[in-house]
Amino acid sequence: MFIIYNPWLFRLMHQPPMGMALYPFVLLRRRSDRNNLRLLNHEKIHLRQQIELLILPFYVLYVAHYLYNRIFRNKNHYEAYYDIFFEREAFEKEDDFDYLKKREIWASFAYLKRKNFEKTRKK
Ligand SMILES: [Zn+2]
Repeated sequence: MFIIYNPWLFRLMHQPPMGMALYPFVLLRRRSDRNNLRLLNHEKIHLRQQIELLILPFYVLYVAHYLYNRIFRNKNHYEAYYDIFFEREAFEKEDDFDYLKKREIWASFAYLKRKNFEKTRKK
């Protein structure tokens, strides 16, 4: 994992996220977040999701699920983002620092079936 601070990509965004995983890099908006273990764990979960899907299919599914949430489930930007199944897993497990040691391959897909995700979301 290579960490890059405040890359040009964030400056292009209207409301940039705190971090972003672009295998094999983790992009952080603020240098001080290099000590934010929860955020780093969240991004590491995304790196694992990307590796096990051979990178490119992850991004295709990520964007497809976001658009599905926006168009067919009529969610706003934030609801659609938090409800992407890859994000559901990462937000639910970001506090579990041993999660990646015990996680099964393609565990993200179990989060496609979850209902009422908002009730368990921490952010
Ligand atoms: Zn995320």
